[in-house]
Amino acid sequence: MTEFTDFQPDALYYIPLGGCGEFGKNLSLYGWNGHWLMVDLGISFHSENHPPGTLIMPDISWIEKRRKALAGLIITHAHEDHIGAVCYLWPRLRCPVYATPFAAAFLRAKLRDNNMDYDLELIEINPGETFYVGPYHCRVAPITHSIPESTMVEIKTNHGRIVHTGDWKLDHVPSVGDAYDASIYDEMGRDGVLLAVSDSTNANIPGRSGDEIDVEEGLTRLFSRLPHRILVTCFASNVGRIKSIARAAAANGRRVILAGRSLWRFSHIARDLGYYDDIEKFDGPKEMRRHARKQTVIICTGSQGETNAALSRIAMGQHPKISPIPGDHVVFSSRIIPGNEEEIALLQDQLRHAAQEVITPADVPETIYSSGHPCADEVAQLYTWLKPQKVMPVHGTTAHQQANEEIARRCGVSDVLVPANGQVIRVAPGPLTVVGEVPHGIVAAQPEEYA
Ligand SMILES: [Zn+2]
Ligand SMILES: [Zn+2]
Repeated sequence: MTEFTDFQPDALYYIPLGGCGEFGKNLSLYGWNGHWLMVDLGISFHSENHPPGTLIMPDISWIEKRRKALAGLIITHAHEDHIGAVCYLWPRLRCPVYATPFAAAFLRAKLRDNNMDYDLELIEINPGETFYVGPYHCRVAPITHSIPESTMVEIKTNHGRIVHTGDWKLDHVPSVGDAYDASIYDEMGRDGVLLAVSDSTNANIPGRSGDEIDVEEGLTRLFSRLPHRILVTCFASNVGRIKSIARAAAANGRRVILAGRSLWRFSHIARDLGYYDDIEKFDGPKEMRRHARKQTVIICTGSQGETNAALSRIAMGQHPKISPIPGDHVVFSSRIIPGNEEEIALLQDQLRHAAQEVITPADVPETIYSSGHPCADEVAQLYTWLKPQKVMPVHGTTAHQQANEEIARRCGVSDVLVPANGQVIRVAPGPLTVVGEVPHGIVAAQPEEYA
């Protein structure tokens, strides 16, 4: 590979260093006149070539060499695939980091938990706020997703407005935060959008992702017909789902116990910021004895079969506080992230072997899961509002990106390009064009190396 160096003054560039052709380690760079703006700096959940627990991060060496020209990093939301590498890689970049109060609290908690003692230059911004990052006039617009304070980043450039969607869905009744506000995106469209860089996760699934309130109602009905102890697994960061589970448990007279360190980290932040004001405090495994088994719901990490997470350890009889009890109902309020099929199948077999009933979304008539990402109709709806001149689908495998591309073309967008990690793409002037490549790849590390 010859490294691209021929950046034209006044042209607008986009370089993804992660998050294209894959799920995870999102990192986008926007560049104009020698000023770079980074959006998200995440980790990956999974790599076949590395043992569980390995940190898989984007190779940032290219931008590190130009860090004086890096005006700042904007974080769209507090999911690990968008924020997870900040603590480890920031000392190599040392640029201002812009994040909402929820994401900022998450970063501080992570620094503290990992004993990382450096002064992160963290600037809190509320959803809806505008601010300057170098020459770029930016705004983080609120959007619904499975974690509070998720945002779409709007970047005004000399060539026009960029909307970097981050992760999103259109939820009418989320369990945390407000419903989405169509007028925001409609107004962006009326003001004119040059480029939308958009979430492809569910672009290959027709219809809509559904509202979180339907999951709460589904779980409430499901719990009402389950006689024994209930374990539910979902992503620890799914603050909205955890609230739905807690409300379904309360409606059935059951106490909620949290099992897993990351669940506690997220729930502390959610409670501090008022997102859990209307649900009871959670118990830890130590308090379990105080309640009859059939009056409890244990929320566990490990929905993707991660062997070091609570659910796997419970299934294998290796959890220090929670043993598997024959008859337990284990509810997967989650989906299979592509690549994790084998691990999840193995975990579910272990659970069945320990005489636990495994309940996945496909097994019951109730809605017990909804995705935090937009399905095809929602993607089309967004393009109808934004009316972007250009679209680049990101956040997904190439097949997901191409499904998103098809939707954009159906919505009348003619300038669509499916980017790949490391490509240098000229956004303007002229049509979206791959003009070259810069070094990119994976950096794998053990968390201890950073302690
Ligand atoms: Zn994501
Ligand atoms: Zn997300």
